[in-house]
Amino acid sequence: MSEKSKYNFKCLEQKCDTKACHIRPQVLVTIGDLARWMNHDYIMNILPGITIHMPESEHDSFYFETLRKPLESDPESTACIFYNEQANSCEIRYDRPISCQTFPLVFNGENYVLSSKDCPGVGEGEVTKEALQEAKSLAEKEFHQRRDSTAALPAIYSVMMNQMMKQSSEAMQNLSEEDRKKMDEIISKSKEEPTGEEESPTDQSE
Ligand code: SF4
Repeated sequence: MSEKSKYNFKCLEQKCDTKACHIRPQVLVTIGDLARWMNHDYIMNILPGITIHMPESEHDSFYFETLRKPLESDPESTACIFYNEQANSCEIRYDRPISCQTFPLVFNGENYVLSSKDCPGVGEGEVTKEALQEAKSLAEKEFHQRRDSTAALPAIYSVMMNQMMKQSSEAMQNLSEEDRKKMDEIISKSKEEPTGEEESPTDQSE
């Protein structure tokens, strides 16, 4: 969407037949979302549905996203874990991620763009000047939260890992002689255990 084009939007909610918002491949969650859920006391309801993506290459990054589940109506496709297919609605609509609140409007740092061509709410309703300004401000807020989360997550991950390694090394040092022997026995037993990949004599072909 360019600055000059008119943006009319009205979420069709349960009447929406594309589910474009809920089936988009990735539903990003920001550190701002987590902080908001903590402050609103919703975190324990929502946290089981959130996962962290670990980078798979140097070009990849850390990010939080919602877990996925297959659609009952189309098991080949997946949707956000919070999508209630029977009700065609979001189970956490009361405080959904900021990326859902702005959908399908996205700010990319320079322009406001539409992230989905399938959302039937675009072009619906009448958006007042004030509502448009509000939608743009929210899209900008989402952009900054997304960027800050991507920047902060590697550092948070490193701090947590360092702390865990420090604690486990301290726990090892504090082991009694007897516990240390037991631990050594467990480790050497696990090394001796067959992997199941060895060739069995009965498997040998004549
Ligand atoms: S959190 Fe809710 S609104 Fe956002 S994609 Fe999931 S089901 Fe849809």
